Amino acid sequence: MADKTKKSSMYDNVMKQFNYAADVMGLDKGIRKILASTNSEISVHFPVKMDDGRIEVFNGYRVQHNNSLGPYKGGLRFHPTVDIDVARALAIWMTWKSSLVGLPYGGGKGGVTIDPSLYSMNELERITRRFTYSLGENIGPDVDIPAPDVNTNPQIMAWIADTFASTKSPSTRMLNLHVVTGKPVGSGGLKGRDRATGYGVVASIKSWAKLKGIDLSGKKFIVQGFGNVGFWTSHFMLELGAKLIAVQDASGTIFNENGIDTETLHNHVGNNKGNIAGFSDAEKIDNGKFFSLDCDIIIPAALGNQITGANANDIKASLIAEGANGPIDYDGERILLDRGIDIIPDILCNAGGVTGSYYEWLQNKRSEDYNIATVLKMIDEKLSEAFERTVNTANKYNTDWRTGAYIAALERIEQTYMERGVFP
Ligand code: GLU
Repeated sequence: MADKTKKSSMYDNVMKQFNYAADVMGLDKGIRKILASTNSEISVHFPVKMDDGRIEVFNGYRVQHNNSLGPYKGGLRFHPTVDIDVARALAIWMTWKSSLVGLPYGGGKGGVTIDPSLYSMNELERITRRFTYSLGENIGPDVDIPAPDVNTNPQIMAWIADTFASTKSPSTRMLNLHVVTGKPVGSGGLKGRDRATGYGVVASIKSWAKLKGIDLSGKKFIVQGFGNVGFWTSHFMLELGAKLIAVQDASGTIFNENGIDTETLHNHVGNNKGNIAGFSDAEKIDNGKFFSLDCDIIIPAALGNQITGANANDIKASLIAEGANGPIDYDGERILLDRGIDIIPDILCNAGGVTGSYYEWLQNKRSEDYNIATVLKMIDEKLSEAFERTVNTANKYNTDWRTGAYIAALERIEQTYMERGVFP
């Protein structure tokens, strides 16, 4: 993958988007000041014993942007690019995302600066547990509820839940196990949470197709990243009859004009340390050609800042559906908008994940057990409503969809502050 991730600019990007939307809607000046900064930023350094007995010290973060609508909510990522700027940007996006979709959450995000492929399972378990312990009371089922993100998964969530609950009074154990969502199904996880983000990306693409009167069957699409979001999005796109012609990840770019079968590629990735490289049913092409491929839809589902002023002019697709957080930077977006390319913004497009998390949290609080059909239906409803709200708000303010989504999200937060005021 063209790893041009400029870490610190993720934060610049989210602030440019925010300031632009705040100007267009005329956001209250005081609320603008509150939302321009984060509520708290936790930075921890913690030691872990490696399998060979050495001690390594890791850096972890949890940024809590705003909790006016409810407890902080958002993922934890394990990636070398994680730092305070990245965590800050991602936490801010979470605030907008939950607000736009109508969930009772604020925004948080964090992670550990680490390449997990370099560690054994036992080491990853100890890293996860010690990180959880270091976060202490800063997280909790009604305080701040982490979830999976890049390179984290249900197993990691289970270790977090177990560590968090084990360090609390035994009488609160069951409640404290709900400190995270995205848990394995046997540990209070939600059936369908695994596919929730990808399902939501496709629900948003379907709303777009309906609005534009487009038939998705036979449409060519490309996906960047073949982790949880990339795989499930491709899976649901294939169910609609669309054709996956190229995939890119950190190990390279593969292309097949006749279509790539998602389940075969998924099996290959599972047996190949998570990498697409070496897949026999497609040819390897240059990484630099990926975004300029002749296709209808691009789905970035990996890291931030992948489509920028440097490559936005090469794009031939008519839609970019942001499965990842922040894949298009501010300059890249201006070019795409000028060229009439539609963008379903991340805070709408990938909100199926946190929506699934909300139902997991509700299921845990109510001691219920939702079936998968119910879960997917609820995600469909929330996301199609949010799509409509985004388009209507954009039309009302005569602006682009990202700004429309921001305004819809900000209006809800503004109302809360107006009603409750600022203590004291
Ligand atoms: N990491 C996902 C996101 O960026 C999910 C967050 C959650 O479920 O809390 O939206």
